[in-house]
Amino acid sequence: MTQASGTIFIVVAPSGAGKTSLVAALLEAEPTVGLSVSYTTRKPREGEIDGKHYHFISHAEFESMISRGDFLEYAEVYGNYYGTSRGWIRSQLAEGHDILLEIDWQGARQVRQAFPEAVGIFIVPPSIEELERRLRGRATDTPEVIARRLASARQEVDMIPEYDYMVVNEQFERARFDLISIVRAQRLRTEVQRVRFADKLAHMGSQR
Ligand code: GDP
Ligand code: ADP
Ligand code: 5GP
Repeated sequence: MTQASGTIFIVVAPSGAGKTSLVAALLEAEPTVGLSVSYTTRKPREGEIDGKHYHFISHAEFESMISRGDFLEYAEVYGNYYGTSRGWIRSQLAEGHDILLEIDWQGARQVRQAFPEAVGIFIVPPSIEELERRLRGRATDTPEVIARRLASARQEVDMIPEYDYMVVNEQFERARFDLISIVRAQRLRTEVQRVRFADKLAHMGSQR
């Protein structure tokens, strides 16, 4: 039987586009997708739990993880470091699990170099004005941080052609359904199904 290997889904979006809310809704509908918990030097926001939302570590700890080669990818985003654990990804894929990375565009490029078959999904807000409203509404960032995130959003939109799928998060329900559809379609791909149903196909086919 062919070696089972999970799919890596990479979800990228300008900050405030609704990535966190949409990914949470996706994982509720498809609980067998494993979410990669990133390491970050950012301070926890209100309500964020260490080990669940992020592994919150110091700058020094992050740098020693870099030098040990512990990260599949890492990047500096808005003044903080963020990185994805190489060991966790390897073990999940080897066990045949699908995994989802919620990372920035710099990390997405690094992951796609290592895993060209990874599925890239870009979430766009309906407009820059609406993005600004959502960032203000979330009330977790200062006006300076919001201004910086809006400027980056304009540049990130130019990178959409690098991704396999684009989801517009205007009506939340619709975007949620789109995201679920992408995961389901990937799982129905013949090369994936052939591995999953190898025994069944061997039994049904003529090569017995
Ligand atoms: P964050 O990642 O910490 O910002 O948390 P979320 O974005 O996941 O959720 C923040 C709040 O927004 C919660 O109270 C959600 O119920 C709410 N929320 C999530 N999606 C939507 C939506 O599509 N529209 C509106 N109006 N509120 C939402
Ligand atoms: P990100 O993780 O991309 O920074 P969030 O998931 O935190 O974005 O969403 C930013 C804000 O916009 C949150 O307050 C969220 O509740 C809200 N939001 C997300 N999707 C929608 C939507 N379709 N319509 C209106 N508000 C939304
Ligand atoms: P936030 O601080 O709002 O949670 O995240 C800020 C940005 O960092 C987002 O664009 C998010 O996707 C990105 N990010 C989170 N985790 C990682 C990671 O492990 N690697 C990379 N490269 N970016 C990440």
